[in-house]
Order: sequence, then structure tokens, then C-alpha cells
Amino acid sequence: MSDKRFKHIGDPFDNLAEECAEVIQVLMKIRRFGMFNHHPDKPKYYNNKMALLDEMQDVQVRIDEVKKMLGEMHDPDSGTNVRLDQSESPVS
Ligand SMILES: [Mg+2]
Repeated sequence: MSDKRFKHIGDPFDNLAEECAEVIQVLMKIRRFGMFNHHPDKPKYYNNKMALLDEMQDVQVRIDEVKKMLGEMHDPDSGTNVRLDQSESPVS
């Protein structure tokens, strides 16, 4: 999410998937070019390590949005909102 103007555009699932794809892209750049290399269009200080940290932060923001959305969903079977705390889930 490099441009904040687009933060509220798109479905939360789509936005999370897109950010996960961006993490994968940076991971592949690290594999190909190294942790401390940088994109030729980016300043030298903005290397792949910094790009990975930024993309992981973007994923966390989008995970939080999906969690919020899920917490607001009504489960028609149970008549309650979706429970986000899985610690009390039965062991299968
Ligand atoms: Mg991103």
C-alpha cells in the first residue's frame, strides 16, 4: 500500500491477498538479487530488506482489517457474531 489514497479501495480479502503477493514478490527479489540490493527505480537506501519490512507491515494492516470485518459478521447458524478467539475451539 504505497499510496495511501487507495487504502480504502477494494474488498478486505482482495487487499490482504494483494499485500501477501507483494511480500512474496519481495521475497523472490531477495532470493534473486539479495537482501541489500535495491530496485533500480528506488533510492539505494531503500533496499530489499526495507521493502520486505514495509510489505509485512502492509500485510499486518490488512490482516487487522479482515479480523475486524470477520468480527462484525453475523453467523446465521449460531445467531451470533463470528468469534475471533479460537482458543476455546474444540480439538479435532
Ligand atoms: Mg504493499
